[in-house]
Amino acid sequence: MDINSIFKEYIKPKDYAGGLTKDEIDFVGDIGKIWKLSSNENILGPSPLAQQAICKCLENIHEYDFRDDSLLKKAICETDTNLTSKNLVSANSGVEVLELITRGFLSPGLECIISHPTFVAYQSMIENEGSKVINVPLNSENYTIDVQGVLDAVTEKTRLVFITNPNNPTGTYTDKPSIDYLIYNLPKDIVIVYDEVYFHFSDAPDFPRAFDYIKENQNVIGVHSFSKAYGLAGIRLGYGISTPKIISYLENIKRPFIINTLTMVAGINALKDTNHLQKTISLIRSEKKWLYQEFDKLNIKYWPSQTNFIFIELKMKLNDFVNKMLNRGIMIRPCDKFGAPKGARITIGNREANMALVKALTKIYMHAEIS
Ligand SMILES: *Cc1c(COP(=O)(O)O)cnc(C)c1O
Repeated sequence: MDINSIFKEYIKPKDYAGGLTKDEIDFVGDIGKIWKLSSNENILGPSPLAQQAICKCLENIHEYDFRDDSLLKKAICETDTNLTSKNLVSANSGVEVLELITRGFLSPGLECIISHPTFVAYQSMIENEGSKVINVPLNSENYTIDVQGVLDAVTEKTRLVFITNPNNPTGTYTDKPSIDYLIYNLPKDIVIVYDEVYFHFSDAPDFPRAFDYIKENQNVIGVHSFSKAYGLAGIRLGYGISTPKIISYLENIKRPFIINTLTMVAGINALKDTNHLQKTISLIRSEKKWLYQEFDKLNIKYWPSQTNFIFIELKMKLNDFVNKMLNRGIMIRPCDKFGAPKGARITIGNREANMALVKALTKIYMHAEIS
């Protein structure tokens, strides 16, 4: 017998492992300051309260602390008074919440619906359970969910429907009437994975939230992360919100002491740091407007964003563009792996970063026009 024969045949090699770090890039020559606008991180850095809490906690790191996540849940409920701890499940990152869900509901032969271009991590998590990915692409004009298309794609094997709202990498959102229609018309033995990790940045009045449906006892799981607005991508913390029934099922999958002590105190204190959060949200809103104006001047096609990044469509080859930007010290994200071969995703920075970005874009676009 060969060892290969006991490997699960549906576990496939991964060609995706998230965005590059600064250290992984060979910058040519002296290009000055490097701006990482490729991973939707918070340009203001982590919450100072969270940082202090981590440092204070370090001396007790030899102990098993926090047998459970009740203090974190309490802090989340204080931030969002709609919720009780029975609505919450926490995990090491938003991605791990997604993984609890795929482990909980999938097995070989089942199906999930996702809508490209979207977050790349869904695919491998679904395939790791032996289930099949059914892609119902977003409407190509405005990158909203093709609601009727999703409903038509449902079969008896469908277990999960992924809705990313606002969507990554396009920054666009699908409005409440459309999501209402989708959720109210799906069969009751399907779970909707409602990934709303960018909701803090949304300001559309008709933006639907996961809780709108959870309070009606729909099978919706909202996915949340501390990596985006809270600026704690490196700490790995996220949580899911849902009905008490779904939550108690997901809780059964979790291993003990799943959240490390530093992560736990970082999350609790980031939630308390409303000042840092508000600063982050208002910076993104005002810089977004400024960038729209600059993109308009350069005649760059972009989609209005409900997130902390902007998706643009390129007239030149994606790789050429990414490399030209790198040569000017700007890291952005090519979106071919997300299912958008002509798209690039750019995280909104502070004014200094955004000016460097616009300067690079101006040079590249002007040069492209002459050559
Ligand atoms: C960033 C992101 C997540 C989760 O990120 P974590 O760092 O794992 O918490 C989930 N979904 C989408 C769409 C994201 O962009």
